[in-house]
Amino acid sequence: NLAYVNGEFMELRQAKISIEDRGFQFGDGIYEVIKLYQGRLFKLEEHLERLLTSATSINLNLDYTVNELKELCQEVLSCNRTNPRSKSGSLYLQVTRGEAPRSHSYHDGIETTLIAYLLPAKSISNQLREKGVSVITIPDKRWGYCNIKTINLLPNILGKQQAKKAGVYEAVFVDDNKVTEGTSSNIFIVKNGMILTHPANENILGGITRQVVLKLARNRFKVKEKPFTACDLYQAEEVFITSTTKEVLGVTKVDDKEINGGQIGRVTTKLHKDYKEYIAKFKKN
Ligand code: PLP
Repeated sequence: NLAYVNGEFMELRQAKISIEDRGFQFGDGIYEVIKLYQGRLFKLEEHLERLLTSATSINLNLDYTVNELKELCQEVLSCNRTNPRSKSGSLYLQVTRGEAPRSHSYHDGIETTLIAYLLPAKSISNQLREKGVSVITIPDKRWGYCNIKTINLLPNILGKQQAKKAGVYEAVFVDDNKVTEGTSSNIFIVKNGMILTHPANENILGGITRQVVLKLARNRFKVKEKPFTACDLYQAEEVFITSTTKEVLGVTKVDDKEINGGQIGRVTTKLHKDYKEYIAKFKKN
């Protein structure tokens, strides 16, 4: 498994960065996770554009165009051709502001640290896929720029750990009684036959999967990007979460409330099928 680190390829185990890297000391960086289907990077351009937008948002001088980043991603794949991860895993890309003597403020001359390597495929058992997952709600205490895909993930990590401890799959943030998103997913509900999800503003990460699902959903259902409450979530006809690695995943329990009698609903099933078909077309093209 060869990792790319600032222009060089090396064995992942050997890949190291400085203890004065600002990513390590301050979480001063951004990242992307891009899913591979049959060795092809799904929604690559969208992910790279989001990376560039994240960079701009934190004044990080990422001196790459989308095309240059695309070439870099392809190089990671070519260097790992015999690795099964290059077929069905994900590509992880991270950029930090770079290495500099420790100080909160930074100067513009620092060279960014860019790393890229392959992650294994995340397996979601058929049982979870068919029965749906349980989630808990937690207060959203994050900052005001959740639209930036920063490596500063402490609230997300603590939330996910809380979910793990509670024996559930995901924790869902609730901000001032508005349901925002999961710790590593976007969340949708069906209410009175209408699909609702939080608008893509500064309170959530605008997921690439969310975008694809919204497009597919609009072909069949009524859809609104509008905040909903924790009470709406409990009383929803259906609930599902989306992300690059989870795709469309049904939620059948929120805290101690069963959703749709504990069954994945019709809309969720249909959308997951549509998503799978969209990917099948991508694989063929
Ligand atoms: N929201 C958060 C906080 C995330 O970390 C993620 C993905 O990791 C998502 C939403 C889903 O985004 P995407 O569909 O682009 O993977």
